[in-house]
Amino acid sequence: MNIAGRRDAAVLIVDDAPENLAVLRKLMVEQGYQTFVANSGERALKIARRAHPDLILLDVMMPGMDGFETCRQLKGSAATARIPVIFMSARTETDDVVAGFDLGAVDYISKPLRLAEVRARVRTQLQIRVNAESQEEQAERLRTIVNNMAEGLLIIEADGRIQFANPACNRHLGYADNALAGYHISDLLNPAVVQEYLEYFSRYASAPGVTHHHGTREVIIRQRSGSPVCMDLTLTPMYLRQPLFIGLLHDITHHKRSEDALQRAAMIDPLTKIANRRHFDSFLEQEWQRSMRSGQPLSLVVLDVDHFKLYNDTLGHPAGDACLQQVAQAIASHAMRTTDLAARYGGEEFVMLFAETPSDAACTLAEAVRAHVEALQIPHPRSTTSAWLTVSIGVATILPHQLDNTESLFVAADRAMYAAKERGRNQVCCTNTGSAALEAIKALMTS
Ligand code: GH3
Ligand code: MG
Ligand code: MG
Repeated sequence: MNIAGRRDAAVLIVDDAPENLAVLRKLMVEQGYQTFVANSGERALKIARRAHPDLILLDVMMPGMDGFETCRQLKGSAATARIPVIFMSARTETDDVVAGFDLGAVDYISKPLRLAEVRARVRTQLQIRVNAESQEEQAERLRTIVNNMAEGLLIIEADGRIQFANPACNRHLGYADNALAGYHISDLLNPAVVQEYLEYFSRYASAPGVTHHHGTREVIIRQRSGSPVCMDLTLTPMYLRQPLFIGLLHDITHHKRSEDALQRAAMIDPLTKIANRRHFDSFLEQEWQRSMRSGQPLSLVVLDVDHFKLYNDTLGHPAGDACLQQVAQAIASHAMRTTDLAARYGGEEFVMLFAETPSDAACTLAEAVRAHVEALQIPHPRSTTSAWLTVSIGVATILPHQLDNTESLFVAADRAMYAAKERGRNQVCCTNTGSAALEAIKALMTS
C-alpha cells in the first residue's frame, strides 16, 4: 500500500513546460502513483476522459486552452466532473486563487513548486478521495440492501407520519414505488393499534435515552386496495437528529394459512375425515356451558360397530378401514345443525352431540342413524346379529348443571350403549338423566 491508501492511484500532470512535466512525473512515480502527462489543456481533457485519473495537477498558464478553461470543461462533463483538480500557478494573487477554487479546484499550489509541498498536497487529496469513495460505497451498499430486501422497511416519525418506505414495503401494501411516504400510520393500521403506537412514540420522544424497544407484533395492515394482510411488525426506535422509528414488515399471510390448515388438520380424524375426539371434547365443553346458561337439554349419542373385530378378522383390516369410512359418512350426515357434531371417538366408536335436543328427539335421531347404517347393507358374513354391518347406540340426555360435568353425560351414554349390546345389538337404548347431581341431592334430601 502506498501513502494514498491505494496501490493504483493515478495522477494526470498537465503543464506546457516539459521540464516541469519531467520533475513532477519523477516525483509522482517515486510515490508509486501511475502517472499520465499532458502538455496542453486539449490533451489533458482527452486523457482525463480515457484514463479517469484520481487527481489532476493542472498548470494555469498554458498557450491555447489555459488551465482555468480546461478545468471548466472537466467540470462540465459528467465523465470527468468528479476528478479532483489541483491548480499550479505562479499567479498567486488572491483573485486568481479564489477564481481557481470557484471553478471547483480542491487546492491551489504556487509556483515555483516546492516538491515536498506538492507531494503532501497530492497525498492529502488522494486520501480524501479514498475516504469519500468508501463512504459513497457504503451508502450505495446500504441503498442496495434497503431497495432489494424482501422485508418491508418503514421510517416513521414520532407523529406517525411515514417518512420513507422501501420498494418491498410499497409492494407488500399495494402502493406504487415511493408512494407511501407522506402517509400516516392511521392509513394502514386500525385505530386502537395506531393509538398504542403513538403513545409509545411519544414516550420514546420524551426520553430517547431510555431503552424503549417495542419488539415484534402481529398486525393487520390495510392495503391500498382496502384488503387486509397479516404482517409481523418490528419497531426499533432510533434517534437520528429527531426521534424516528424503524419498522420492519414481514408478510406472514402464508404462515397464517398453514397455521389454519394445521389447526383444521388437528380437528379432523385422518381416516374418516370427520371430527376427531379432541375437537369433539372441546365442542362438547362449549355446548355444555351454553346449555347451562340457556337451560336447554343436551343429548349425547355413543355408537359402536357390532362385531367389528370379527369383521376385520373375516375381511381384513383394509376392508375394515373402508367400512369405517362409510359408516362415518352415514353418521355425520345426521348432524345437520351447527350445534350438532358427529365425531370418531376412537377405533370403531363414534359419538354425536345434539345441543338443545330433548331425549325423545335425540332417540328418534339415533334410530334414524341406526337404520341408515343397516340400510348401507355392508355385508358382514360372520355377524350373529345380522347379514349386514350394524351399530349399537346409547343415548343420554342431560340438563347441564354446575354440579355435573360432561363426564357424567358420557358415563350415562356409554351405559346405554352397553345395554343396547346386551339386549341384542343393532338397537338404540335411551336414558334421560335429568341432572345426575341434582337427582342425587334430591334423593339424599328425601331419604
Ligand atoms: P362388539 O359388537 O361387542 O362391539 O364387538 P367388537 O368386535 O366390535 O368389539 P371390540 O372392541 O372387541 O373390537 C373392536 C375392533 O375394532 C378391534 C379393532 O381391531 C377394530 N378397529 C379399531 N380401530 C380400527 C381401525 O381404525 N381400522 C380397522 N380396520 N379396525 C379397527
Ligand atoms: Mg368397541
Ligand atoms: Mg364394537
